[in-house]
Amino acid sequence: MANKNSLYSTETITKLMEIEYGFSGEISRLAGENENYLIKKASGACFVLKLADEETTAGMIEIEHLAVDRLIDAKLPISLPRVIPTRTESVQACLMTKDRKKIRGRLLEFVQGKAWCQTLPATNEQLEDLGKIIAKMATALSFIVHPDSKRTHHWDLARADQHRSVICLIDSPKRRKVLEWVFHLYAANVMPLLESLPKSLIHGDINDDNVLVADGRIAGILDFGDCLENPTVCDLAIALAYHTLDEDNPLEAAAIIIGAYHKIRALSMDEMIVIFPLMCARLAVSVIISAQRKKIDPDREDWFVSEDRAWKKLEIFYLTDPARATIILAGKTNLEPFKDRGASIAELLKNRNKCIAPSVSPSYDRPLKILHGKGQYLYDYHGRPFLDLYNNVCHVGHCHPRVVEAGQRQMARLNTNTRYLYDGLTEYAQRLCDTLPDELDTCFFVNSGSEANELALRIAKTYTGNKDMLVVDNAYHGHTSSMIDISPYKFMGKGGKGKPEPWVHVVPSADGYRGRFKGQGEDAGRSYGNQVGQLLESIQRPIAGFITESLLSCGGQVIPPHGYFETAFKHVRNNGGLCITDEVQTGFGRVGSHFWAFELQNVIPDIVVMGKPIGNGHPMSAVVTRKEIAKVFANGMEFFATFGGNPVSCAIGMAVLDVIKDEGLQEHAKQVGARMLKGLNNLKNKHDIIGDVRGIGLFIGIELVKDRITLAPATQKASEMVNRMKERGILLGTDGPFNNVIKIKPPMVITKDDVDMFIRVFDDALSNMETED
Ligand code: PMP
Repeated sequence: MANKNSLYSTETITKLMEIEYGFSGEISRLAGENENYLIKKASGACFVLKLADEETTAGMIEIEHLAVDRLIDAKLPISLPRVIPTRTESVQACLMTKDRKKIRGRLLEFVQGKAWCQTLPATNEQLEDLGKIIAKMATALSFIVHPDSKRTHHWDLARADQHRSVICLIDSPKRRKVLEWVFHLYAANVMPLLESLPKSLIHGDINDDNVLVADGRIAGILDFGDCLENPTVCDLAIALAYHTLDEDNPLEAAAIIIGAYHKIRALSMDEMIVIFPLMCARLAVSVIISAQRKKIDPDREDWFVSEDRAWKKLEIFYLTDPARATIILAGKTNLEPFKDRGASIAELLKNRNKCIAPSVSPSYDRPLKILHGKGQYLYDYHGRPFLDLYNNVCHVGHCHPRVVEAGQRQMARLNTNTRYLYDGLTEYAQRLCDTLPDELDTCFFVNSGSEANELALRIAKTYTGNKDMLVVDNAYHGHTSSMIDISPYKFMGKGGKGKPEPWVHVVPSADGYRGRFKGQGEDAGRSYGNQVGQLLESIQRPIAGFITESLLSCGGQVIPPHGYFETAFKHVRNNGGLCITDEVQTGFGRVGSHFWAFELQNVIPDIVVMGKPIGNGHPMSAVVTRKEIAKVFANGMEFFATFGGNPVSCAIGMAVLDVIKDEGLQEHAKQVGARMLKGLNNLKNKHDIIGDVRGIGLFIGIELVKDRITLAPATQKASEMVNRMKERGILLGTDGPFNNVIKIKPPMVITKDDVDMFIRVFDDALSNMETED
């Protein structure tokens, strides 16, 4: 054998050399993961024989040589591994072994110089030289077009996420935490830009072994075997990751390389912003591949040359805010990333206290300043991305381009009000009605959930001529005076003074975990429904109506049992009341199986209230009822809301409906929601603190308890978990009567990878919290 790790014997290699090239020499295997052999002729002349593995296609070899030839033509001031043709002028040499195995290989000129990693420390000139060479390579390689360049391999930096699911191979929880963060940064900061970044053929592995140095200059670049089409900036990021491994100030050293690169091939702002996450991702991929290889052969030293150094750097990068890192990296370019991020968080908090009412409070122990949003992500002042599992308003994803465009287009054309005629109003109203049962055929448009519920209340009172309202315990329906009056969540909560009005009657929440009829299945639904009947008997007069969310959100992500609404609605209607379902949190396909959550229960309400997701963040809301009810409400008093149903809102509302349909978001919610519930139920078996996991589609709650028998709420722990998860880049919130239910109601575009990552991180964070106690 040419050395202990070689696949082939010296005799086999000698035979191949002699048949195909007419000479051979002293043979030794070169370090590295590929089957590369040094052939030293008696004259002292050296060559490298690269043997192809089974996966290496003729196309890949062709690309490798096209790349080298192109760089030679471009007259880069470096030596390159030019291919030596066989005796029959072929690029590829072949040999059939005795056991009929076909060996393929190619012979390359040996490039003189010492590997970068053996010439440390690097001078600034050397760093600059590297930047220039990589930029020149980028320009030269961009001319190569080859169908096989659209390949991938396990080092492909545009597919780094393929390694995310095996983070569990890493034993150390601290290191797993680092890797989760790096892949999160990659998923949030790189993946959304992958499509739009400029692409070209890249080298794919400009590491500190493949760059040769002589006399303080870059003398050669080796190993074009990983060439593939990729975002062009990936070559730079890969080089930065490896060539700063031994630097005490890696980002400052990287800035020198970037500065020199930028002078030759100007980076765009998007390219600048992805460099830090890409550097981190490359190192993460490297340590993961090392972990996998350890399981195959822990003694192959050449497989692990970068491992310790990569971990060290990853641990430092983990503690560096992406915005700070990017600002340093751009330090020697004319780019100014994060320049327009405005006032610091401390300044904002101070100013906010000066002029904003004190009852308006920011979330989290350390409040966030969010700079922008995209899809399922929010990005903060420090450049940190957050997977948003909490904000159900941006239903089809933060700043969805189709919704933004629809709003901008209509805003530039016209915005008026419902006292004029315009197509958008009737078209949108019809589209909304089409999502509902036939009898719900008449719309009112207003601007917020509170306003819509307020209107629903007025309609119920006018239609029935009655005043009494039934509301569900812990419910919230809005911030206006009468909404506070019918929201036990507020009047019984902090600052509340108890039930303020005799016309408000509170029915118990149909809570399958804590409620009185817990564990009674279908019967529970009927029993809770009959509690409504009992309350009505005690009122002894006809009522205006019953208002309820179809699933209880502020009430703790409660999913009422089947049969509940059917029974409750019957009692309400028998007492002259209308049934109002507040779909502000639950509508527009969130539950997956249906477009509206009330449809889960085989009932048709008299009035449906819509808000939050309806405009994907644009303030609008709607009330839909039956024509007959709307006619009675039209008692002579005109209904007019200045902004309700304006042309811009209608355009936005229609775009939201289009996106839900075109992107199949309802079905998607069903699938990713089921995956989330399954993952959480598995965690429930592992962590006693999880008392209950419940939900449907992407409306999910995790109830934390101190004790599974007494159900004592783990309020403090729930809040701690929300803050811990925030520190790890995931946004959640708590709610419920004891504030111990972690709420999940994300934009509907979260992916199954987001779900898997959330489950892993939640598991980890719970374990950490448990062990730290
Ligand atoms: N109804 C429900 C169920 C809600 O959750 C909310 C807001 N959290 C409202 C109504 C009030 O909506 P808005 O804040 O848009 O007035």
